[in-house]
Amino acid sequence: IYNGLHLEGKMGDILEKLGRTRKVIAVSASADKSLLRKSEDFPGSYDPHIWFNVALWQKATQGLLPELTALDPENAAYYQERAKKQAEELNSLHSWTLEQIASIPENQRVLITAHDAFGYFGDAYKIEVRGLQGISTVSEFGLLDVSNLVKFITEKRIKAVFVESSVPKKSIEAVVTGCRDRGHKVKIGGELYSDALGAEGTPEGTYAGMVRHNVNTITRALR
Ligand SMILES: [Zn+2]
Repeated sequence: IYNGLHLEGKMGDILEKLGRTRKVIAVSASADKSLLRKSEDFPGSYDPHIWFNVALWQKATQGLLPELTALDPENAAYYQERAKKQAEELNSLHSWTLEQIASIPENQRVLITAHDAFGYFGDAYKIEVRGLQGISTVSEFGLLDVSNLVKFITEKRIKAVFVESSVPKKSIEAVVTGCRDRGHKVKIGGELYSDALGAEGTPEGTYAGMVRHNVNTITRALR
């Protein structure tokens, strides 16, 4: 089971090939294509970070139910029950996230991160999103990008920016330094999970725990 939409980069091609001899499932294949964001970096493809819209992800993961049931019909009832529980849990997580983000003062409702992982999050939860790099973590950021972002943050008096668990911190630190040089003290609001979960066995090692961590980190820093 993998995400798809090129999130896995070259590994996605390998997984697709593996699909000829083994069962592989791309969760994103069950997502409603009309709700997907087009990628600006890669024409003709989609932004893969769909799990940051909890409602969209919930629906996409329900596509696993018929697949798993077909593979393991003996445990059909178990999968059915898990799918129902998961739908309930994620629906309430979606509503909670909406409430939390709405509690941030409107002029601070801006999420600034190193790479553009939060487009779906921004659309779903009504928070403006700015990333220093594009959708891929492979692309480079330039000095012009840094100075544009510094100008934006300083003018809007944004309180905090965020580092990501899967992207080196130096790009966002360059932005913080740039803002301080212009007399605006912006802080690093914390670390967000963007392309991976937390360590196994921790709350952030689950999907819902990871979302809760991100939402709490964002609201605490911007409220
Ligand atoms: Zn990413």
